[in-house]
Amino acid sequence: MERQFKRTKIVCTIGPATRTREAIRELARAGADVFRINFSHSSASEALETLEMVRQVREELRLPLAVMGDIKGPAVRLYGYAEAVDIAAGDVVTIESWKGDDPENSAVKGPRHLWTNLPEIDTLVKPGQRVLLMDGYFLGEVVAIHVGAVDVKIGNSGRLRPKAHLTIPNVDYPIPFLSSKDVADIALAAVNEVEYVALSFVRSGTDIEEARRLIQRSRTKAGGRPRTRIIAKIESAKGLANIEEIVEAADGVMVARGDMGVEMAIEAVPIAQKRIIRVCRDSGRPAITATQMLESMIESPIPTRAEASDVANACFDSTSAVMLSGETAIGKHPVRTVETMSAIIRTAEAEFDYETFHALIPEEVRSRDLPSIVTYSAVSMAYQCGAAAILVFTETGGAARGLSRLRPRQPIIAFATDELVRRQLALSWGVVPLSHSGAPELDQVVAEGLSAAKASGYLKPGDRAVVVAGLPLTKQGSTNVIRVETVK
Ligand code: ATP
Ligand code: MG
Ligand code: MG
Repeated sequence: MERQFKRTKIVCTIGPATRTREAIRELARAGADVFRINFSHSSASEALETLEMVRQVREELRLPLAVMGDIKGPAVRLYGYAEAVDIAAGDVVTIESWKGDDPENSAVKGPRHLWTNLPEIDTLVKPGQRVLLMDGYFLGEVVAIHVGAVDVKIGNSGRLRPKAHLTIPNVDYPIPFLSSKDVADIALAAVNEVEYVALSFVRSGTDIEEARRLIQRSRTKAGGRPRTRIIAKIESAKGLANIEEIVEAADGVMVARGDMGVEMAIEAVPIAQKRIIRVCRDSGRPAITATQMLESMIESPIPTRAEASDVANACFDSTSAVMLSGETAIGKHPVRTVETMSAIIRTAEAEFDYETFHALIPEEVRSRDLPSIVTYSAVSMAYQCGAAAILVFTETGGAARGLSRLRPRQPIIAFATDELVRRQLALSWGVVPLSHSGAPELDQVVAEGLSAAKASGYLKPGDRAVVVAGLPLTKQGSTNVIRVETVK
């Protein structure tokens, strides 16, 4: 199956089921745009290997595929068991705080004795406290407290996966935002010019600034300043409360529904999703909707009807991207899952009412600044003159993101000379990143752009295209030109 145009992008997690060049190539062909490496389950050397596989595939397929390094952050997890553990309702498990360096080295003490990286768990809870395991799958209650450990009675049966999340609602975890492993993983991403890092459990704009300083202090292999962009994962009530400030400080946001669904009331998750997407969209930053989107496809070759609706509804919420986690990391049908997701997206997009959306764009979004005025007018013109595509010449990607937030019906063909900028645009809704020669003359790059868009099948002779650019061409943040072209 060859890639077809879709506006909503797909982020897919690489894991044991897909960590080969062949699998990554098939996922890309099926419609994956961004590959997520989860540092919670990946060593530095594994991450570098996966990065190299994606590099090879993007050269081979000539696609601007991006990588997202997901930083573990202050996640509280369970350790001390290498294989999944079967738990029955009524079982009591002991959860002990690991005092050593790396909880991954914790000794196995038996299937009912688990370790956690949460320090001094005995001082944080009282008997009767609710405890959730594996993103809320297992419901437990503290029944006894020991020195450095607690006993938890589990209320339901199932299989506990390795390194499952542990959640203790309404408890402030005494762990720093970034561990030494996180600092090293962020540096690894920056040095290797990974397109995005995602930060887990972001609580405030200050958390983002801390990571941004680490990136800026690193140097790429060529000695340059890294331009790795930051995605803030919103997965707690605190993160949601500070959403405006977080979006302002970050380059994009992930609606991380897994932990969100246990940290806050589950019925608040759909509302939070809509709110986060709106704040992101209005500010021109990508929003990724994540967790359990096609979860049943980990096992089954078809999703549930509810999952198909969830993916489509995320598109109607105008998410920029949808994400797959376990489905592609450990699932039995990773490529089929991406194909299914692509089909649901394209079908939802065919129904979306772009013109009404455009008419309802609020005044403060239309005319926030000069680039907003130019991009809004360009999309209006594209509708008025029946354009088949919008071409944008962009140095930093900013103008393409400015068009993307307006969610036009026409594909946004973005031309950037910088490869990293192009790959970063892989995450932006509706954007097709292409390259141009970097010639200094607008006439020349427009002619190049039109023939590239024609060669890629986005334009045909007789079509109109609206062109957005900034003069002088190499100056950043100068979006000030709109032209209408007819394709010869
Ligand atoms: P996060 O909080 O970052 O979402 P997670 O543990 O939920 O972490 P995901 O990447 O969302 O992880 O989901 C992937 C699933 O696949 C998890 O159940 C995880 O246990 C499993 N898995 C096993 N190995 C890997 C790997 N190398 N990379 C990613 N996931 C893995
Ligand atoms: Mg997850
Ligand atoms: Mg998480």
